[in-house]
Amino acid sequence: MKLTQAIENLEDKGFLDIHFEKEINYIDEINKLRKEKNAVILAHYYQRPEIQDIADFVGDSLALAQKAAETQADMIVFAGVHFMAETAKILNPSKKVVLPDLKAGCSLADSCPPSDFEEFVKKHPNHVVVSYVNTSAEIKALTDIVCTSSNAEKIINSIPKDQPIIFAPDRNLGAYLIEKTGREMLLWDGSCLVHEAFSIDKILNLYIENPDAEIIAHPESQAHILKIAKYIGSTAGLLNYVKTSTSKKFIVATEAGILHKMQKEATDKILIAAPSKEDNCNCSECAFMKLNTLKKLYLCMKYELPDVEIEEELRKKAVKSINRMLEISK
Ligand code: SF4
Repeated sequence: MKLTQAIENLEDKGFLDIHFEKEINYIDEINKLRKEKNAVILAHYYQRPEIQDIADFVGDSLALAQKAAETQADMIVFAGVHFMAETAKILNPSKKVVLPDLKAGCSLADSCPPSDFEEFVKKHPNHVVVSYVNTSAEIKALTDIVCTSSNAEKIINSIPKDQPIIFAPDRNLGAYLIEKTGREMLLWDGSCLVHEAFSIDKILNLYIENPDAEIIAHPESQAHILKIAKYIGSTAGLLNYVKTSTSKKFIVATEAGILHKMQKEATDKILIAAPSKEDNCNCSECAFMKLNTLKKLYLCMKYELPDVEIEEELRKKAVKSINRMLEISK
């Protein structure tokens, strides 16, 4: 085999990118590929700062799903976790959907296995099933209405008062919604590792040291954290609150990636990430979200892999519950 042919073979397999990575300017290459392939890069607020900075759009789960549904791009590059890329594919099946790392999962989605959930739903046949977007396509197919933390209250309130409800998979968000809406709901016992890791003692100590700070929290956090929060909201809600509040300092109880966007949009505010129970651990950072890097983003755009495929029958069942959410959220 000639040397040039050997190099081409290696390049096809992506090996040269690995060996010569120092020579690659990932930002330039991603920008070139975005143009060449008519791609749109969607990034979640919990992504690494450099990924947020190169994305076409940065948002929470609801805004990203809306963008994915309406995009005219040929390829959706989803810088987030697997269920988000899967949701994009369900909504826009004719597009190629790629994500930087197939192993970017979600502890909350994993806490709701489809076969167990199906059995649970069958035991309560007269219930409407509302599921948080952090679920697999199989769970969405067993769901009547999907929701995100931005629209969950509105979705629950849209359901007739005498209609019993199952809420899955996040027990903390479910308990918060029961309190907010006054609706009794059957809750699935799932949770997110990141939002369960916050230490109330350490947050209160921080507050004693910073009495001028406001504690703000995502509703996936445990009830005792929510009790001490001045404001509770989705990632987009928290961002908006920091921007518009007259306070100057905030202790933020959600995944720490949001602090990048907050600081960019509220340059005069002081932001402190809420500490977690374990010492010397980055538990307030989602390890799944942080699997994505600029290099992996570049590689997935170049090779259009890994891509998300969903069997059509499953997609048709799952899309109904997402479309109901999008209709109610208009
Ligand atoms: S922060 Fe929690 S809910 Fe969000 S992707 Fe990571 S594990 Fe899932």
